[in-house]
Amino acid sequence: MNIGLVAHDSKKKLMQNLCIAYKGTLENHQLYATGTTGRLVEEASDLTVHKYLSGHLGGTQQLGAQIEHNEIDLVIFLRDPLTAKSHEPDVNNIVRLCDAHNIPLATNLATAELLIKSLDRGDLEWREMYK
Ligand code: PGA
Repeated sequence: MNIGLVAHDSKKKLMQNLCIAYKGTLENHQLYATGTTGRLVEEASDLTVHKYLSGHLGGTQQLGAQIEHNEIDLVIFLRDPLTAKSHEPDVNNIVRLCDAHNIPLATNLATAELLIKSLDRGDLEWREMYK
């Protein structure tokens, strides 16, 4: 499965820890992340991550384009709900595209863990058929 990863600055450490904790599962999938998130995940977990541009430089849009092309099966977007982002429209667009294309999306740690565990159980196999 192709998994999209984005973490706002205040959530990057959380994303690193999530990827370390679930490395055993995530290493069986292809990871796509905005630039800084991807670099930090690679450094912390030694997972291989395809890195887009940095989020505010267009990386979020790149992820959005891949979702539109049905090339992303699951998105983990650990966003900061307290701080307004200059590229807020791009952020909202990821949520909109996931809803439009019925892509499983986690925006917090609790849901992210549920979705990653569901990968192990094969609960998202329907995505393969859908593609
Ligand atoms: P970044 O982008 O991973 O390049 O920091 C995430 C974001 O949109 O803040």
